Amino acid sequence: MTRIVFTALILLLLAACGKQTELSIEDIRFRLEVNKCRAVLDKTAYEIGTWEYRNEQRINSSEMLWEALPESLLVCPVTLERYVLVVEENAGSLSCPSGHGSVDIPRN
Ligand SMILES: [Zn+2]
Repeated sequence: MTRIVFTALILLLLAACGKQTELSIEDIRFRLEVNKCRAVLDKTAYEIGTWEYRNEQRINSSEMLWEALPESLLVCPVTLERYVLVVEENAGSLSCPSGHGSVDIPRN
């Protein structure tokens, strides 16, 4: 068991080293931007849940979202583009139009 974990660790380290040498400055910059944006997306998802719990209702439109939360949680910290809220019957998501990722907004 320990040996498998150790081997996995070595492989992981090798993979990490291998990747690092291939990364260009542009790649690194993009990764940092993605991390920055994802941190805001995660916080926003949490704040949506908190707001919904406090107000005992679901946020189901962009208008509601903009009324509920401050702008700093609703735009990409890198490009300042507005996050896109998609709400379906049993699922929801908030995504960055700049391609930095998205978070699930639980709807049930
Ligand atoms: Zn973004």
